[in-house]
Amino acid sequence: MLTHACVVFLATTPLGLTHDISGVTTSSVESAIEATQSSRQTQNVFHIMIDGLRWQEVFGGMQSGLLTKDNKVERPDSLNKRFGGSGPHERREQLMPFLWSTVAKEGQIFGNQEIGSVVRITNRYGVSYPGYSEAITGVADDARITGNRKIPNPNTSVYEWLNGKPQFAGKVAAFGAWDVFPFIFNQERSKVPVDDSMGPIDFGTLTPTIEVINRVRAETPYRWASASFDSLVFIPMLDWVKVNQPQLTFLCLGETDEFAHEGDYSRYLEAAHRADGYIRELWTMVQSMEQYRGTTTFIIHPDHGRGDTRGGHNDWWNHSLPKHPGCEATWLAVIGPDTAALGERRNVPEITHDRLAATIGALLGEDFRSAVPAAGEAIGEVLKR
Ligand SMILES: [Zn+2]
Repeated sequence: MLTHACVVFLATTPLGLTHDISGVTTSSVESAIEATQSSRQTQNVFHIMIDGLRWQEVFGGMQSGLLTKDNKVERPDSLNKRFGGSGPHERREQLMPFLWSTVAKEGQIFGNQEIGSVVRITNRYGVSYPGYSEAITGVADDARITGNRKIPNPNTSVYEWLNGKPQFAGKVAAFGAWDVFPFIFNQERSKVPVDDSMGPIDFGTLTPTIEVINRVRAETPYRWASASFDSLVFIPMLDWVKVNQPQLTFLCLGETDEFAHEGDYSRYLEAAHRADGYIRELWTMVQSMEQYRGTTTFIIHPDHGRGDTRGGHNDWWNHSLPKHPGCEATWLAVIGPDTAALGERRNVPEITHDRLAATIGALLGEDFRSAVPAAGEAIGEVLKR
């Protein structure tokens, strides 16, 4: 999320893959959503975003070709030992064991371009604020959300919309490893409590753990100017959820992006591995709680991809369009009681990020497009058992 100042205009880069979408019509999407509404079990959603984690590592694990001194890999042996399995499947299971042992078996995962599945952003910038905004508002506002400047988001997010309904009021919260999130969620207007990872958590019921982390945040020098370490977001968030029991929770982990911008492939991989462990810990905790057991859906994806290594480029570490083509491509994982266990999806229609907000709404029994007609429609594929 760090870069990002200068951005040039260009339409989204085509991915060069075509897919047969003849089997999916609006009516089949609608009937899937209706079917979900009548038998819907989801009462809680955790929307987890891992900043700038590429689909290449998610589906293929560690990329051996990137273990170079240029990418700050000083000890390839130790990386190979941890993440260097014999093929892409073994490598991805080593890198993100929970994603592949549980989410991809009991839920669905999209975005492996090697087998005909594409997930992509529709905003034309490929940087973080437009990426987060598109995911939570259902709209790529290319005219107004053009980069990472701290401007209050003029668009209404599904978080704000649900928080304004009596049955969800006070049951929505956001935790993100970046100090731009209060603007992305338009905290002032939306009244959604937003933790920006830098200041203290000062909303809801606090615990001794949260108080300690607040102190650590205040007394520890920053490594990055506008973001903190994932541990300082995740640990207090976990405790906050335990005592406050929100129904819709946003979590952004950001180290993947920060270390990638530093060109440090080892730490990028370690951050991805740690994020996977955090998701496991959260899933395990919620399944042990009455409020969440069997009624909770996780939606997991990044805000953008990163450049790739086509044509001899070493562009994995950066993102933004049109300078770093490939960063429009992402991935999406969903697990929960209303999502069929179809695993890794192949040869399926492309999925775009402007559909995520309506999907979150539909999982919670609400039609976000009744409020924001311009938002993309809910993803029917993950809404039917
Ligand atoms: Zn970034």
